[in-house]
Amino acid sequence: MARVVVVGGGYGGLASAARLAKLGHDVTVLEARDTLGGAQGRVERDGFTWDAGPTHTLLPAVARDLFRKSGRPLERELELVPLTPLRRHRFEDGTELDLPAGRADQLAAVDAALGPGAGTAWVEHVDAFADDWAALRRDYFERPFSRDLAGDHAKALLGTRLTLHKVLRSTFRKDERLRLLAGTAALLEGHALRDVPAWVGLWSYVEQNFGSWTLPGGMAGLTDALAARLTTRRVQVELGTRVRDLEVRDGRVRGVRTDAGDLDADVVVVAVDPRQLPALASHVRRTNPVIPPVVAHVGLAGEVPDLPRETVFHGDPTLVVRTGGVAPAGHHAWTLLARGRISEDPVTALARLGVRVRDQVVVQVDRSPLEQVRTYGGSPYGVLWEGRGTVAHRLGPRTPVAGTYLAGASANPGAGIAAVGLSASLVAQAVGPAS
Ligand SMILES: Cc1cc2nc3c(=O)[nH]c(=O)nc-3n(C[C@H](O)[C@H](O)[C@H](O)COP(=O)(O)OP(=O)(O)OC[C@H]3O[C@@H](n4cnc5c(N)ncnc54)[C@H](O)[C@@H]3O)c2cc1C
Repeated sequence: MARVVVVGGGYGGLASAARLAKLGHDVTVLEARDTLGGAQGRVERDGFTWDAGPTHTLLPAVARDLFRKSGRPLERELELVPLTPLRRHRFEDGTELDLPAGRADQLAAVDAALGPGAGTAWVEHVDAFADDWAALRRDYFERPFSRDLAGDHAKALLGTRLTLHKVLRSTFRKDERLRLLAGTAALLEGHALRDVPAWVGLWSYVEQNFGSWTLPGGMAGLTDALAARLTTRRVQVELGTRVRDLEVRDGRVRGVRTDAGDLDADVVVVAVDPRQLPALASHVRRTNPVIPPVVAHVGLAGEVPDLPRETVFHGDPTLVVRTGGVAPAGHHAWTLLARGRISEDPVTALARLGVRVRDQVVVQVDRSPLEQVRTYGGSPYGVLWEGRGTVAHRLGPRTPVAGTYLAGASANPGAGIAAVGLSASLVAQAVGPAS
């Protein structure tokens, strides 16, 4: 049985801890804040509750696998429900598209909204990612990448110079709206399409085929369930404990240094931005963090426009409205996210797009990108895509320091609840069961 220290109690740290405890290790989670979950937490004010970060997730199978492999199945504790539609897109020319899940439904909806032929062009673009998904799923997402074991297709994809920008330019020459539709996920995660490898477009394929899922009552429910799972698995959780560095001797990790003293460990799982820890920082100097969006959680009184769970208003800035937070009777809890040129209150920017709720705001919690990075000790959006080298420069599940592994948004395979869940599974495979 190895003594495992997990640094960071966000979703990446909690998922790693649950898996490693089930594999028979003696696990301690060290979390700097006085609460678990990191970005997957809640913001509460005046009777309103908003998800601080994620409101939905791709690949619910990843969360289901985590719960099944660490104890009781997820369905016994939480009910993940599909988002219908996935989101509404409002383009600058006024076109509106409610994008459902499912190939046939997407074809029909895109045709109806963007014109005859657009639906076929869209689903053909998405279909083209089927082989990429199959290859990367096997060799990169679901088992630690190994040059020796990986197939040629996965190796070629991870080394490609082809960018998503280039693919979308040549595929959708005529319709900028289709380019935006296909680039939305990467753009909203803060990347420039010119720097994003083409295969990252496979998340459109994943979303079309497996949907996007949410928890009634908020995604922070996943944090609560995982925290309870850690108690069941006898994982020790130390809140208010910031890790300053790894203790490394003879090239191997021996423990961690914290504000509250040193702690010995045979294995350390870093589930925070590794730039924070001097022993790892030099190994990730060629990566940069993604800047989080400008966020405003608003509580609204009275009748409001009937928007689906997520609406993307394309433009500069790109504005996202997420409805569905918990609000007192007669009120609504929305979250606004802004990317691009935003130098005003997102509520004002939204009014300019025709959604006028300014006079109904009874409470507003503004969260700047800087405040989010300070709160979580790094960017919950992980590492910025800067071309094909990013996969190699981003660590995880292994790191160059023996006995040290990387999980979470800054690790392979990337940010977002699904990828972060996969990172924890990769770490558990790399560490292996207690002997
Ligand atoms: C506004 C917003 C909206 C989002 N929406 C979605 C969405 O809809 N769907 C989706 O899939 N993803 C979404 N994401 C992304 C998703 O939330 C993150 O990718 C994921 O939660 C990251 O988890 P993590 O554990 O890697 O990091 P974090 O959640 O950042 O957790 C890191 C934890 O480590 C702690 N910590 C940091 N440094 C130290 C240290 N030195 N010692 C000890 N503890 C430390 C922090 O306090 C924190 O608790 C969103 C993110 C944001 C910010």
